[in-house]
Amino acid sequence: MLNKILLDLTPYNGRLVAVTKTRTLDVIMELYNNGQRIFGENRVQELVEKEATLPKDIEWHMIGHLQSKKVKNIASFVDCIHSIDSVKLLKVVNKEASKHDRTIDVLLQFKIAEEESKYGFELETAKSFLNSDLFDELKNVRICGVMGMATFTNDETQVRQEFKNLKSIFDQLKKEHFEVDSNFKEISMGMSGDYLIALEEGSTMVRVGSLLFN
Ligand SMILES: *Cc1c(COP(=O)(O)O)cnc(C)c1O
Repeated sequence: MLNKILLDLTPYNGRLVAVTKTRTLDVIMELYNNGQRIFGENRVQELVEKEATLPKDIEWHMIGHLQSKKVKNIASFVDCIHSIDSVKLLKVVNKEASKHDRTIDVLLQFKIAEEESKYGFELETAKSFLNSDLFDELKNVRICGVMGMATFTNDETQVRQEFKNLKSIFDQLKKEHFEVDSNFKEISMGMSGDYLIALEEGSTMVRVGSLLFN
């Protein structure tokens, strides 16, 4: 399904994060040999093991909930963390990145689903952080945009509304805090079941797993 997904992305200039959690190294190498270079994992341990073995030109994205105490395990190599859901976590990422003399790309995750279990910032919390001095002090993280997960439902109207909501959060933050920052440009939304809707609503990066292997 890789080629079909890439074709779907083309008119939107979207990028594919190939989600390879629980998949074997062989399976990842098959995608790699077909040209895929951005891979996403949701567990630190798995990410660390795969990065150690696979080709060095892979761009590794951490997409799952990240505990502060585990940031140090990925700080030397991770290219983008989609799941920044608290100021505390962002501070830890900044500190660990600085130890490696790196700047790590991050996305702020927002709660857009109705399910209680989904992690993410409340808009007001994010805004007050972006208005604080702390924001300017964190030199080793580059905030590149936002990420969100829609409710797991067949109700397309609801999913579309949640994606619209994330797009509007992106637009507000862009206007109020990142107007002159060209790095702030990513909207990470859309998975196997809803990536086409996400693209229609402004996604720039889809995170697709299961469908790749159908
Ligand atoms: C697993 C996962 C995905 C991909 O889900 P699929 O439905 O398999 O495409 C996307 N984002 C996150 C955060 C995930 O954990």
